[in-house]
Amino acid sequence: MRKTASRRRLLGAAALSLTTAAGADELKAPPPHRFWDTTNVVLFTGVAGSRAFDYASTRHFRRRGANEILLNNSIVDDKPLFIGIEAAGTALHIGVCAWLHAHGHHKVERWLSVVHIGITTFGAVRNYGLNSDVKPQ
Ligand SMILES: [Zn+2]
Repeated sequence: MRKTASRRRLLGAAALSLTTAAGADELKAPPPHRFWDTTNVVLFTGVAGSRAFDYASTRHFRRRGANEILLNNSIVDDKPLFIGIEAAGTALHIGVCAWLHAHGHHKVERWLSVVHIGITTFGAVRNYGLNSDVKPQ
């Protein structure tokens, strides 16, 4: 009876140490890709491009007399401020992706860029359709 209990404890300790070793190996395993790999560089370039497209489309509809809804007119009419906001949006995006990468969420890291590009591009295309009857001032 004592031998059986002792064996069980020994087996339990061995199983625990194997589990811990496997967990440590998983933590030390390299990520499946480098953060600045070709895919992320292309995706981040796409994000920056879509932000630039958003900037240009917003300036376009402001020249045609339409009003900004998400921010306000005084912010988007201030070119350096608005460029800074678009750049900060891109930088924040890259920072969030870096966090996702560091925590092993590689699929979400990639898809976040795809969704960002999609939503921003959709909004920019829509911006070009705003108030198109108004003549430029
Ligand atoms: Zn990653």
